[in-house]
Amino acid sequence: MDLANMRQNGVRSIDVHCSDCSHHAIKNLDNFPGHLAVKSFERRMRCTQCGSRRIDVRPNWLEKPAMPSLTGVRFPKG
Ligand SMILES: [Zn+2]
Repeated sequence: MDLANMRQNGVRSIDVHCSDCSHHAIKNLDNFPGHLAVKSFERRMRCTQCGSRRIDVRPNWLEKPAMPSLTGVRFPKG
């Protein structure tokens, strides 16, 4: 999955998790181009707490509206 794909799903940030100290952070990626793969950030990032490079990155699915059909939110096509 790349950033463009993630944005189409209503998610604009990633959930960054350190495998060594369990430090956890949400990072907004609005300033990054859409062709970048979500997983590519695992190699770019470093834990701000312990300095580890064992980083696990995934789309921040919590940002996605749970039931868009009930809230009346319409997603743009494409
Ligand atoms: Zn850490």
